[in-house]
Amino acid sequence: RVLTMKACGHLPCATEDGIAVSLLANIGLPDEIETVEEYNLDGVGLFRTEFLFLESHERPSAQKQFEVYDKMASDLNGRPLVIRTFDLGGDKLPPFLLEEQSDAQGSLHLRGLRFSLAERDLLDEQLHAILRVAQTWDVRILLPMVIGRDDLEQAIATINRIAKKCGYLRTPPIGAMIETPAALYSLADILDLADFLALGTNDLTQYMLATDRDLAEGQDDCTALYPAVLRAIKQVVDVSEKHQCPVCICGEEAGDAEFACLLIGLGIREVSLSPGRAGMVRQALRGIKQRDAVETASQALCCHTPQQVRALLRDLYPSTA
Ligand code: PEP
Ligand code: MG
Repeated sequence: RVLTMKACGHLPCATEDGIAVSLLANIGLPDEIETVEEYNLDGVGLFRTEFLFLESHERPSAQKQFEVYDKMASDLNGRPLVIRTFDLGGDKLPPFLLEEQSDAQGSLHLRGLRFSLAERDLLDEQLHAILRVAQTWDVRILLPMVIGRDDLEQAIATINRIAKKCGYLRTPPIGAMIETPAALYSLADILDLADFLALGTNDLTQYMLATDRDLAEGQDDCTALYPAVLRAIKQVVDVSEKHQCPVCICGEEAGDAEFACLLIGLGIREVSLSPGRAGMVRQALRGIKQRDAVETASQALCCHTPQQVRALLRDLYPSTA
């Protein structure tokens, strides 16, 4: 009997042949934490913290951030909260920094972790807040736009320095986002240092394909279904498995039911998505067999266009056709 989306919402997320898949939430505002309960998710796989900075004419204090993160973690009541340090730079610039930095000599051209390392005071305040919450709750730190050993090492040293200064006994797991081509070519270095990986298909796809993720949204010009992107995902899964390092996929396309089926075939077991997509994905995964997904994935890796991959996926999971 095929269960409707609503009817299977409370059921475990697993394939028909019993492969369990962890479903987590991507959220960008504290209030969205309630969706974790609502959609029966396993926790938060990506909390984007940029809002704290982008809407503020003042630097958000460690105390203010602590209050936000602590409330969210306590609402999750033991489920994990992956907090991504601010991913700013490029077109995402806080008003207070624009006011402070009128010339181009500052950090404004940098993105992600390197921007954070150039704005050390901002990063220190945020890490103070996260580390404080991590003494009580299952909070994990995720670093955006990592490009290799050097930036990751600097961030970890900063985390350890702050933990030591505050006398904290517990340092939370530290994860690296894999979303730049440089990170793909630095996987071994990154895996030496990271406790977990989060693969961001939004940025990875745009940087691999030389497209603009915002302009090409929903179009086949910028999709993780491009075989080259699929091969990159497969490589990350395989290398991480050798290092016994968990990998979560957290790009928007993880919420596409067909794509989620393909991810299982590529070896992914953790998916972080927009909570509203969880029902579709849960229903799809419950309707496929892992061994069929593996077969489809191996064919997809040999395709030449996203359209060919899409056609294969419709055979694997016909109910979305
Ligand atoms: C990504 O790039 O895929 C990602 C999850 O991060 P963001 O969308 O916040 O850039
Ligand atoms: Mg990103």
